[in-house]
Amino acid sequence: MAELEAVIGLEIHVQLATRTKMFCGCELSFGDEPNVHTCPVCLAHPGVLPVTNEQAIRYALQIAAALECEVAPRSIFHRKNYFYPDSPKAYQISQYDVPLASNGRLGDVRIHRAHLEEDAAKTIHVGDSGRIHGSSASLVDFNRGGTPLVEIVTEPDLRSAAEAASWARLLRETVRQLGVSDVNMEEGSLRVDGNISVRPAGSEELGTKTELKNMNSFRFLERGIEAELARQRELVEAGGTVAQETLHFNPSDASLTPLRSKEEAHDYRYFPEPDLVSLVPTEEMLREARESLPELPAARIERYRKQMGLAEDTAALLATDPATAAYFEQTAKEAGKGVEPRVVANWVTGELAAALRQDGGDAGAAESKVEPAALAALVAMVQEKKISNSSGKAVLATLVAEGGDPAAIVDREGLAQISDSGELESIVAAAIEANPDAAEQVRAGNRKAIGAIVGFVMKQTKGRADGGEINRLIEAQLDARAG
Ligand code: ADP
Ligand code: ZN
Ligand code: MG
Repeated sequence: MAELEAVIGLEIHVQLATRTKMFCGCELSFGDEPNVHTCPVCLAHPGVLPVTNEQAIRYALQIAAALECEVAPRSIFHRKNYFYPDSPKAYQISQYDVPLASNGRLGDVRIHRAHLEEDAAKTIHVGDSGRIHGSSASLVDFNRGGTPLVEIVTEPDLRSAAEAASWARLLRETVRQLGVSDVNMEEGSLRVDGNISVRPAGSEELGTKTELKNMNSFRFLERGIEAELARQRELVEAGGTVAQETLHFNPSDASLTPLRSKEEAHDYRYFPEPDLVSLVPTEEMLREARESLPELPAARIERYRKQMGLAEDTAALLATDPATAAYFEQTAKEAGKGVEPRVVANWVTGELAAALRQDGGDAGAAESKVEPAALAALVAMVQEKKISNSSGKAVLATLVAEGGDPAAIVDREGLAQISDSGELESIVAAAIEANPDAAEQVRAGNRKAIGAIVGFVMKQTKGRADGGEINRLIEAQLDARAG
């Protein structure tokens, strides 16, 4: 049987950080006492009328611009009817056939649509542990009801659980940097559902999908999709078929429980919301949304790759967080023409990240004691072979611990590279004398045995000699003696 390929599309709900709700003046809040941010509109008293929040439209337009979407000149709101205690109106105001935004992209993933809607209230199920009047109950907190949401729907362009999680992270960083949402998964201001199917690799047709609901961290998102892909693969390889259903992922035991199957799915009886006017963004609103965009992670990753020659994963590590990006760019600038940005990038993501981890704190490069100018000077010294690679690491450890100027640390600790080749040659000769067995093995063709002699020299020179140079000198001297 042909190998099975994963096909994944994501639906992301982003709570907008407006001051007030989508269709009324109630304040947005998280964690307040239940039901203090309510009014006749969001509690659906008879006769009230909704009014669209202009700030929510502006924020949604910023998201649309960041995702390179086309904006509909005129879209409308629909009523999505369903009966559940989290919706006092018994419908959610959403968008249906004409969404505010469509046909966009972020990185390699196409955006199908992005539309505005309102959030439901929060239901709290009080089970065995908290019985009320002797039985279990459901409580409703209407504070969240009516919070503005943008729902973003991707095309099924993702091909693995890891890719889905890393793309979702990129989306979160993008929205965070727009400043239109808190994008906090734990608090539910960013919620991601995964749509998952498998198909024979190379096939163009889509298989039957299942939907994984509400995974509240990127780790769970990745593990949930992984588990569901494994389930589907096993099922299909055994000759079975995937049933279209909605599943809940339980991270504690990696189990997947069906929530509801499509056959019992609601018919939402969408119809146009008669109490609201059409959504017609003005030229000014569109312009403002475009012009307010900062340089976003995807564009920065692209720039680092194309203009600075960075590898994709290094570019992503540096470009995603704006503070890290600024740190890297400043360091590259200070390092000057003699040092390629690629080399600086590798120091920031490699040596510096390792040194910071070693130091035990959780400070990133930008919050560390290592000033961009200091790192730049250090990288330049290593590049120019004024100090060895291993001395470079030692200086970096000192910089991480106490900050300061690398040249001063090199002086203070006597780390300047041994530049006198005569001095190094005699240390190498002594090292060969002191390790006759290793020298014999190297001469006999066992290249690995050279490590013992190199280590000896390193120790003698306290790491102040260049590794490549040491190797070269040892080989030259052994060859000379053999010949
Ligand atoms: P539904 O009608 O069930 O909501 P949609 O066509 O609106 O399905 O798609 C919802 C999400 O599911 C989108 O992100 C889309 O990319 C994704 N999707 C659709 N079909 C598939 C499939 N066969 N496999 C994986 N993802 C899919
Ligand atoms: Zn209200
Ligand atoms: Mg859908």
